[in-house]
Parts: sequence; structure tokens; C-alpha cells
Amino acid sequence: MTQRYREKYLIDTDEILPPEVLKDLDLAFEVSARINHQVPCEGCGVCCHQRRITLQDHEPSRIASSLGLSDEEFCQEYLVREEGRWFLRITSPCFFLSPDNRCRIQTVKPEICGDAPFLTTQFIEAAYFLLRNQREGLILPVLGNFIMDDSPCSRKAAAIISDEISIVLNREKEGLMVQSQEQLAPRPV
Ligand code: SF4
Ligand code: SF4
Repeated sequence: MTQRYREKYLIDTDEILPPEVLKDLDLAFEVSARINHQVPCEGCGVCCHQRRITLQDHEPSRIASSLGLSDEEFCQEYLVREEGRWFLRITSPCFFLSPDNRCRIQTVKPEICGDAPFLTTQFIEAAYFLLRNQREGLILPVLGNFIMDDSPCSRKAAAIISDEISIVLNREKEGLMVQSQEQLAPRPV
């Protein structure tokens, strides 16, 4: 069974996510968003060789009309429906990748393509586990195992993720210190 996180992300678990897990997922999401912002795409095309590109329900119409197709024609030719979700048919690379590694439907591409590779479930989960390990002082696993592909942007992300996690954990510690100081301060009579 999966649980939804921020509507878009599917977390593979049978249990309802407890508040402390949601809090750490929020921190992991923040780390992932910061890295997405810092590490530019270098157009290597690796993202577009992935097997599963998912579309939200409102997205097929937008892409169909940009291609001059009806929704039915587009869905039949390019999509498959599984477990109540739309996916691009599996091809490697994606149908819409041109030989010079550009997206032919750039302005209307699925939202997940703009989120990749760091604002995706896989990377957010990796950031989540690294964050928990770092907080608990465990030895960090080899980061390369966590990052989906050997691409230029993933190598850059691997070099900065621990620093980004340290930043959010330091801020968390400072917040806890402020809270405990407030609790210790004498109350006005
Ligand atoms: S793997 Fe990274 S550099 Fe390559 S296309 Fe995707 S975002 Fe761009
Ligand atoms: S739709 Fe465009 S950005 Fe998305 S996988 Fe296909 S070619 Fe890449």
C-alpha cells in the first residue's frame, strides 16, 4: 500500500505516516528543493531514459492539444493507465526526447519532468534517510547508492547533500534551544 505525501508523492508503506515522520519528510523535501534550486540541469538526457514518467489527471489534455490530438488519441498512443494513474508508455528514451537531448514538448511536459531529479519521491526518500542517519550520528551510507543515476547533476547533489542536511539540522537544534530557553524564562506575574 502507498501513502500520499504532498498529494504528488507516493510513499511505500502500509501505515499512516505519523507526525514525526511527516516532519522529517518536510525537512527532506526542503533539502531536495534547495538542491533542485542550486544544481542546474546540464541536459545529459538521463532523466528522459527513466522507465516510469507519471502524469497527473489534468495533464493529458494539455499535451494532447499542443500536439493537435484529441485526448483519446493522445492517451491511446502515448499513455498507459495503471493503478488509477497515467504513465507515459515505456520507451527508452522517452518518445518526446529529440536526438540533441531536448524535450519536444518542453512547454507542456508533465510536471514531474520539471521536478526531476531532486523533487521526486526517490530523492526525497533518500534525503529523508540520510537526514535521520545524520541526526542520530550513524555512519552515512554511500550516497551514490541512493541517487538514481550517474548523471552530472546527481554527482553535484551527492557533493552537497550532507551540507544541506547539516544546515536544516542546525536550524532545528537552534529552534529547540530557543524553545527550552523560553520555557526556562521567568513568567510575568
Ligand atoms: S539527469 Fe540531471 S543533468 Fe541530466 S537531464 Fe536530468 S536533470 Fe538534467
Ligand atoms: S516528456 Fe520531455 S522532459 Fe519528460 S521524459 Fe519525455 S522528453 Fe524528458
